[in-house]
Amino acid sequence: MTQSLLLRCITSVVRRGAVPQPGRERGATVSALHGSERKGPSMKASRLFTLLGSLAVLISLGAGAVRPGAAHAGAAPNLLDRNTGIVVHNPKIVNLYWDGNWDGDNPSFHRSSIDNFTRDLVGNSHYLATAGQYGVGPASFGGSFTPSWLCGASRSGSMLSSVTLAAWVTCEVLVPGTGVPYPDINFNGIANTLYVVYLPHGTRINDTYTLPAVSLFGHTYGPYTIGNASCSSTTAGGYGGYHAFSFGGTNAFAWAVVVADCAQGSFGSVTGIASHEIAEASVDPYPTASWINSSLPSSSIFSDGEAGDICEHKSSPNVTIDTFVYARYWSNRDNACKP
Ligand SMILES: [Zn+2]
Repeated sequence: MTQSLLLRCITSVVRRGAVPQPGRERGATVSALHGSERKGPSMKASRLFTLLGSLAVLISLGAGAVRPGAAHAGAAPNLLDRNTGIVVHNPKIVNLYWDGNWDGDNPSFHRSSIDNFTRDLVGNSHYLATAGQYGVGPASFGGSFTPSWLCGASRSGSMLSSVTLAAWVTCEVLVPGTGVPYPDINFNGIANTLYVVYLPHGTRINDTYTLPAVSLFGHTYGPYTIGNASCSSTTAGGYGGYHAFSFGGTNAFAWAVVVADCAQGSFGSVTGIASHEIAEASVDPYPTASWINSSLPSSSIFSDGEAGDICEHKSSPNVTIDTFVYARYWSNRDNACKP
């Protein structure tokens, strides 16, 4: 990720007063050392300890771009390249609201509304059906959770770093007693459980990091200087969300964040951002390692290269299904944005 990309992200994302739009995402990865393969709570706690101890290093991955190998995405319809082909095979979406008083602080989009949208996403809308061609099968809703006291503050602060965010997500997911389900075990390269974090009104993400180069799955990440920020209700420009992954238990697991403040009260904007990130996290859970447009330079691959990004720039980036606004994403099979 280059500084020019960062500037572009800051100046070109969610527009004030615009119709609901999916937020631009930035690939973010957070890694930690694998712990024991045992599933007991005490082992989970020790793994978390290890993970937190490693966060200073991990952060560097925190928004790391992946430089793809050979550039080979061609003209339509094959805008998305398989690369490693690792996907979330059966996304089980778990909503994490970082605000113990979510409904009071976010009256335009109550938890129940967002949860109902999530149920529709995995159910009646068939939103992820298009992702079937990339290996994503039936999805499910894994529940809705507010912060556990075990993981610190009951509401995210006004300015959040991706380090802090990643630590909170991994705590909620891995520490016994939070109530949040552990990542599903599978042998497909990443857990099926996909956690979606909703940040409340008044919270913005802002990071400045320089990341070392790291290799994963044959891809080299970094080094990159990250100086990126999300939008907010008072700050135009910046991304509305991103997706990332963490290691925990026997698997890595994917997670996404939705900066609800960017929606400026528009529920459709919240669901647009969320669906965009869920689609992309499903088909590219290790950002840029799977289904992306590999022909793009690293300077724009995060803003333009993923399934949702390709459609974000087209004339009808969103579609309404079952009263919910969804972000379209690219279908190689249809040579079009779907659904
Ligand atoms: Zn995107």
